Amino acid sequence: MQRRNFLKNSSAAAAGLLSAPLLTSCKEETSTQMTASNTIVPIRPIAICTWNFENATAKAWEVLQKGGTSLDAVQQGAMVEEADTNNQTVGVGGRPDREGNVTLDACIMDKDGNCGAVLYLQNIASPVSVARKVMEETPHVMLAGKGAEQFAYEQGFQKTDLLTEKSRKEWLAWKKTSEYKPIINIENHDTIGILAIDKDGDIAGACTTSGMAYKYAGRVGDSPLIGAGLFVDNEIGAATATGVGEEVVRTVGSFLIVELMRQGKSPQEACEEGVKRIMAKNKDRTDFQIGFIAINKKGETGGYCIQPGFTYRTFTEEGHTNTPSASFL
Ligand code: ASP
Repeated sequence: MQRRNFLKNSSAAAAGLLSAPLLTSCKEETSTQMTASNTIVPIRPIAICTWNFENATAKAWEVLQKGGTSLDAVQQGAMVEEADTNNQTVGVGGRPDREGNVTLDACIMDKDGNCGAVLYLQNIASPVSVARKVMEETPHVMLAGKGAEQFAYEQGFQKTDLLTEKSRKEWLAWKKTSEYKPIINIENHDTIGILAIDKDGDIAGACTTSGMAYKYAGRVGDSPLIGAGLFVDNEIGAATATGVGEEVVRTVGSFLIVELMRQGKSPQEACEEGVKRIMAKNKDRTDFQIGFIAINKKGETGGYCIQPGFTYRTFTEEGHTNTPSASFL
């Protein structure tokens, strides 16, 4: 779809039954924006996510195209992966901890810096949706464990068995040979971090995961931590992470990347710098994976990973692309 049509259609949806002349002026008013450095840039709606989750960005794009907000877009995009039992690191079907319990972490952040998160949440299929409820319905930012689960039921979420037969069988097999030791499993990294810009130029992000497979009971990674797994600053841009959460927490990774963009770096340069900071503290290690993706206010994107193999998925009016990211090693 051409940009002009997209803007027209998205304005139409937002404006309900507005007449055609008004639509035109609506488009004029919303097609550019002022950045933090006082430059006028075009608004470029976009949805971008970690890895190759084409259904997630397609869903987010569908929301944006109908004139929806970036907040709705990232939530609904993330929910696609949470519901997909074939994705064993997010939501239903996620791999369990070493006790056999699936525990989920998620967060969401909007254009105004509002945010919500759930940590160590069990029995609920869409942690990102509970995180949004925490943001909108409580005075808090984070709810954890039983309290988060209780809150979810109060909000109308249904109790769901998250452990699929496939994940259960794999866990039983793991127990036979693992000596009960959680490992840094570089192949287990399909956390979805998703960022979007809507027709008003507003940015939001979400991140959701079942975390590291066979982790210690109680372990929480970076994904639900605002600043580590996700950060949004509507004046600058947004970033999100996937990979070994402990390393992302140590560097407050996503906040770092947004701050680097604030200092003038492009999303790509900022992601590269973030990964290099982590590697500077881990000079001899090649056994883990961390990838960042970022967008800035202009709708430019970037992605960088410690190891080769990381891709990120983008959806814009030009269609969708899967970009293999550059890597450190
Ligand atoms: N970052 C997630 C965590 O550490 C896992 C991942 O992205 O693979 O929980």
